[in-house]
Amino acid sequence: MVRLSELGQQARENHIPVMQEEGLELLLQYIQEKKVKRILEIGTAVGYSAIRFASVSSDIQVTTIEREDTLYQEAVHNVEEFHLENQITLLHGDALTISVAGTYDFIFIDAAKSQYIKFFEKYKENLAEDGVIVTDNLAFHGMVEHPEMTSNRNTRQLLQKIRNYIDFLKTNEEFDTVFYSVGDGISFSTRKKKK
Ligand code: SAH
Ligand code: MG
Repeated sequence: MVRLSELGQQARENHIPVMQEEGLELLLQYIQEKKVKRILEIGTAVGYSAIRFASVSSDIQVTTIEREDTLYQEAVHNVEEFHLENQITLLHGDALTISVAGTYDFIFIDAAKSQYIKFFEKYKENLAEDGVIVTDNLAFHGMVEHPEMTSNRNTRQLLQKIRNYIDFLKTNEEFDTVFYSVGDGISFSTRKKKK
């Protein structure tokens, strides 16, 4: 039986980009304080963050989407290991095309960074009125702020996409966003209060 602390460590050793502990703590604190009950996650990987979210409280429900076969299978296995089948619903498919019903208090975008704006636009439809959309990896290992760290063309293009997403959030007319430089850079977006 794998323990919770080992699951994240094992995933990192296998080069699976699970959330950094520091960032995860920030999310878990928010989930606990705001009494978040319904979570939607874009990007399951092996289920580490989903399992951490669900472990905050037994009345939390997590729905999470993963497109890669082997990762999805591994997530199914891990959710069973931790006996969280009743709290975690694993969806296998592309988050850009899959249709998800229901309303969520907390939507976590942690998948292909080039598609962040699309994920945001699609899934805000599933967000409760006072819900939050949280996005991970906005710093991209510090490269968003220091693009000179890479000369790789694809990486540079990806950095530009992340910058576009940050601008999209900063200039958004519907949502206010707070940025945190913990972990790999995290944002919390909530609907602007009606005047
Ligand atoms: N949230 C996880 C880590 C997710 S890593 C954790 O912290 O434990 C990002 C995952 O998103 C990868 O497994 C990748 O396969 C998946 N992904 C990327 N684009 C996707 C898409 N369009 N639809 C579904 N999953 C996607
Ligand atoms: Mg991430």
